[in-house]
Amino acid sequence: MTVSGLPPYDDTNIFARILRGEIPAKRVYEDEWALAFHDIAPQAPNHVLVIPKGKYCSFADFSAAASDAEIAGFIRAVGNVARELGLEEPGYRLLANMGNHGGQEVPHLHVHLFGGRFLGRMISAG
Ligand code: 5GP
Repeated sequence: MTVSGLPPYDDTNIFARILRGEIPAKRVYEDEWALAFHDIAPQAPNHVLVIPKGKYCSFADFSAAASDAEIAGFIRAVGNVARELGLEEPGYRLLANMGNHGGQEVPHLHVHLFGGRFLGRMISAG
């Protein structure tokens, strides 16, 4: 178990494979700490996934086990992506699904960044 109580990180998950360059992705940003790429099934005109380069499944895992530099680097990367995509002024939404109830499909921590149109408020039930 990881510190968050989740199973160990699965090195074969799709985002780990994208990080290793084994699977192509439309990359929009990369630095020492994070990678951002377009979601394969976009749900908004801009739908980008930002992932830390370290092997973390969840926010609990990341916040407990990552170094301060990794955490700062990842948060800064999210801000950089939003700024570089020109979304700061019109606005955008960040969303991170965690575990079963959160609907997380890929067990590598990621933040969805949605933008490019009015997104309404919060989430729909379902
Ligand atoms: P989750 O439900 O885990 O928060 O979201 C995972 C996201 O990853 C989904 O929005 C899905 O469309 C996206 N995704 C799944 N497989 C791939 C892939 O191979 N490439 C890219 N770019 N996105 C993917």
